[in-house]
Amino acid sequence: MSELNEATNTTDGATPAPYLIDCSPLLAELPGASFDVPEFTLTSTSEGELIHTTVQARVDRTNRGVRLIAHVRGVQEGACARCLSPARAALETRIDEEVLEERHAQGEGERLGRGNSVDLGRIAVEGLDLVRRLVLHCDPLCPERCGHCGAPHQTEECPEREVDPRLAVLGSLLPPSGDQPEVKG
Ligand SMILES: [Zn+2]
Ligand SMILES: [Zn+2]
Repeated sequence: MSELNEATNTTDGATPAPYLIDCSPLLAELPGASFDVPEFTLTSTSEGELIHTTVQARVDRTNRGVRLIAHVRGVQEGACARCLSPARAALETRIDEEVLEERHAQGEGERLGRGNSVDLGRIAVEGLDLVRRLVLHCDPLCPERCGHCGAPHQTEECPEREVDPRLAVLGSLLPPSGDQPEVKG
């Protein structure tokens, strides 16, 4: 066994399994033809969080390749940033993108791959990743945690909070109220 084979056997958890669509039958038809892709689901990870993706898609023939129109829904699963309990968020996005045949391809846009295939799985997961929550919280929102003692109250309301000694000194310098000297004119 060569080292190359071993390397290609390594699976990267961040790379979702591809979901390839063979566009050859559609490319044999005239522009305007279309087909519906059966709904499918994928699970991937993004920065340690699980993303379950459900894809409903249609592929249209264009005069330069195909156009992907997809409704992508997902559930992001991770930990609440406040209390570390399991938390989840619903994600949703739409994809409307033309994938060009190699002979019409220009720039950095999507183009048809080997055997006129499109990796709809990768495109859907990438689209959903753009609307992924950067910070997850419980829903309904859990109480804010205290920065002093970790209990579920705001830091300013913490009973264990100590008065800043510098503020205590300032307080002692203030004259007692109602003892202001009268100004005579
Ligand atoms: Zn929480
Ligand atoms: Zn506290």
